[in-house]
Amino acid sequence: MEETLAKRLDRITERIAGAAQKGGRQLADVQLVAVTKMVTVDLLGEAITCGLKAFGENRVQDWLAKYEAWGDRVEWHLIGHLQQNKARYLTGRISLIHSLDSQKLAQQLDGLSAVQGRPWQVLVQVNVSGEATKYGLSPEELPDFLDATRSLKGLDICGLMTIAPYVKDPEEVRPVFRGLRLLRSEVSRSRPWLNLRHLSMGMSNDFEIAVEEGATLVRIGSALFGY
Ligand SMILES: *Cc1c(COP(=O)(O)O)cnc(C)c1O
Repeated sequence: MEETLAKRLDRITERIAGAAQKGGRQLADVQLVAVTKMVTVDLLGEAITCGLKAFGENRVQDWLAKYEAWGDRVEWHLIGHLQQNKARYLTGRISLIHSLDSQKLAQQLDGLSAVQGRPWQVLVQVNVSGEATKYGLSPEELPDFLDATRSLKGLDICGLMTIAPYVKDPEEVRPVFRGLRLLRSEVSRSRPWLNLRHLSMGMSNDFEIAVEEGATLVRIGSALFGY
């Protein structure tokens, strides 16, 4: 018999709870963001029926059709690199941008916040692993970036995001997740004005390790939708 979305969701939730417990945390501290980039509008509807509330997309063009169908009935998260000519489509429609990765984009979003009537909730993407193919600031660039964006009232920088390399044994990428958590402590220590309450880290292959290391948002696609 084919496994249902509801079943997969139950199992993932149990695994998040187990990992949270192992890390001395609560299930309620971790929000599941269902990544729907490979999922049709209809399957997304089924996910809503299952009780999922937050959905992550990484391409603005693909997301727009889903937004048209489901609108503000759910919470939308942008998790992929945002091209500057696409930012205006997000205005007033996105709960959290996980992928702020440049000063230019920060300035552009800041400008659009007036149109939106509220600041953007954003996470800064950090390329902890240093893979050349990944977007994100290097850990060394983060402190100056935070200082330079401090004056932008249109941005509420509420955490950090990272993507670990794909590996067979996720235990191998624990240092990446731990690295993001330590980086947060380090930059926050000398900057009391920061409130980096979120760590967005962990995907289908490695979310349990990420939760053990302090993830507050996990971004899960394939394990949930079964592709
Ligand atoms: C696709 C994607 C995910 C989900 O990946 P899965 O391995 O399918 O869970 C998470 N984060 C980002 C940024 C993605 O692009």
